[in-house]
Formats: sequence, structure tokens, C-alpha cells
Amino acid sequence: MTLLKKIHEMIPYLHPLPNCCVLCRCECTHAYALCIACENQLNQVPSSTIIAGITAGLSYQNEVIQFVHQLKFNDKLEYALILANNLLKSINRQTLPHAIIPVPLHRQRMRQRGFNQAVEIAKPIAKQLAIPLFKQHCIRTINTQPQAELTAKQRANNIKKAFRVIKPIPDHIAIVDDVLTTGHTVTAFADCLRQAGAKKIDIWVAARTPLKFKQVNNEKRI
Ligand SMILES: [Zn+2]
Repeated sequence: MTLLKKIHEMIPYLHPLPNCCVLCRCECTHAYALCIACENQLNQVPSSTIIAGITAGLSYQNEVIQFVHQLKFNDKLEYALILANNLLKSINRQTLPHAIIPVPLHRQRMRQRGFNQAVEIAKPIAKQLAIPLFKQHCIRTINTQPQAELTAKQRANNIKKAFRVIKPIPDHIAIVDDVLTTGHTVTAFADCLRQAGAKKIDIWVAARTPLKFKQVNNEKRI
């Protein structure tokens, strides 16, 4: 290790830097790296498009797309905290679930990425709400192709039967995922949990595309 690299690595320990907003770079008073002014400008999900059973922190557009990409593809885990805190603001605390289950990644994808973004978003939420986080209760048995590369019909077929519950689960569960696009992934996962005995399933997503979701806009399924 060069001396320069060594010094660089020591800097944060010598002079802890204040949080810096990821958008405007101002000094940040939040415990996470997004200032209040920037947070207030993020797109919330319009109330006219709220779907029963689905709680979304933010609308998946503009800066929010960057947040998710930074988390998933650049390993910037601090964005999970930003997304989690925005999702927390939307969660109805009157009827909280008995457990939070993040949408699992296939073990091969997990190995490639090194973490599951849904788990990273779910962790601070579970901690804040004091609800158990079940990371080992469900697995993804099929390594589905990245959903973005497929047509809507291909996605639906691709994701069916991709999940399995391997440990007992409680009656009321909240599924956590990063982004809801077509809704096929959470619908398939919810079906799997329901077959394993779950009676009530809430869907908590950090961000949702501003489109309508016919596939999940059905209380019987979600
Ligand atoms: Zn800012």
C-alpha cells in the first residue's frame, strides 16, 4: 500500500466529515445524505394513483432513478438509507405487519452484486418500526433475466414460480422491494407467500413508476 493511499484511508478517522447532500452537496443535517430542501423536491407518488395494498415512498423518475441505480449498480449503500427513510414516511403505522420480507435475489445474482438492495432498504425500516426482518425465510429458485430486458408478457412468465418459502411465516407480512414497475415480481412473490399461509400482505416499495399497474391493481391478489 502506498503512503498516499494509507493517508487517504485514514482521513475520515482523523477529521470526520459532515454528511454531504448527494444532490446539492450542501452540508446535511439529516442522519442520511440528503438535505431537507432536496428531499422536499423529490417526486412523491400522486395521491390519485395510490393503489390499495401498495405503499410507495417515491415516484420512480428524475433523481430517484439515479438513487436506485447508484445503489444497485454502483454499490452505494448510502442510497438505501435515503430510499428507506422516504418509504418510512409513507408507511401506515396503525396496522404494522408481524414480519418484513425483502424480495429475495437468486444466489447467483447475490454473489455477483454482493448484497440484495431490497434487504438494504428493509434493514433500517425494520429497525425503525421494531419489526423482525426475515432474510432467510424465502429463496429465489430461478435466476430470472434482468426484468428490464423483457417484454411485459415475458416478464410475467419469467417470474412465476421463481420463489419458494423455506421457513414458517406469520399471517401478516410486508414485502419490501426497491422498484415496482409492472408489479409482476411482487405479485408472484405475494402469491408464493399466500400459498405458504400468509393471510395479509402489504407491499412496500421504495419507488414506483408513474404508470398504472393493472396486474397488481386487484385487492384479491395483493
Ligand atoms: Zn441537497
